[in-house]
Amino acid sequence: MPDKPTIETRTFGDLIRERFKLTGYCRPCGMVSRELDLEKMPPDEVYIGRRFVCRDCGATMEISVSPPAWGR
Ligand SMILES: [Zn+2]
Repeated sequence: MPDKPTIETRTFGDLIRERFKLTGYCRPCGMVSRELDLEKMPPDEVYIGRRFVCRDCGATMEISVSPPAWGR
């Protein structure tokens, strides 16, 4: 589980500005991870509490937010 971001990131636009990554995991597809394309999301929409659906099976994905310095 990633640490809670200290920067204000509530909307898709915030995530893009701070270079965060949004990754979805689909359990029915074997916890396959998909990086979500933030450019295609409405920038002023809050991502917290939003549902993301797997494009293959239609199940709700689990979401992980990664700060830019997090991945190594
Ligand atoms: Zn799936």
